[in-house]
Amino acid sequence: MAQETIFSKIIRREVPAKIVYQDDLVTAFHDINPQAPVHILIIPNEVIPTTNDVESSQASNLGTLFIVAAKLAKQFSISESGYRLIVNCNKDARQEVFHLHMHLLGGKDLGPMLSLD
Ligand code: AMP
Repeated sequence: MAQETIFSKIIRREVPAKIVYQDDLVTAFHDINPQAPVHILIIPNEVIPTTNDVESSQASNLGTLFIVAAKLAKQFSISESGYRLIVNCNKDARQEVFHLHMHLLGGKDLGPMLSLD
């Protein structure tokens, strides 16, 4: 079984987090170090370390990340101004937490897609 991270403890509410959505498949909470006025992490409740580990049986969990992202974008009033969804994988993408997560970022002009410094 995949190794748990702090995100599993957040899902089980064993450590504090500002949870904004939770159902049987996914949990969403504010990023602790926000990079934009709205910065929410949307994660499957099941531990999937990286996108490399995704299996077809998880299609419904992972599809739900997009459904929840759209719902939260509306709730946080960024659906029309726009937002960015990011999923980092491994070293070159600087993935820090090995529990697959989608970043929902918005509330300002986010600039070019990549900063290549
Ligand atoms: P990534 O680089 O894609 O793995 O992003 C991990 C994200 O998790 C970072 O944006 C962190 O700020 C965020 N993060 C780490 N620990 C916590 C936590 N306890 N609560 C909320 N966000 C967290």
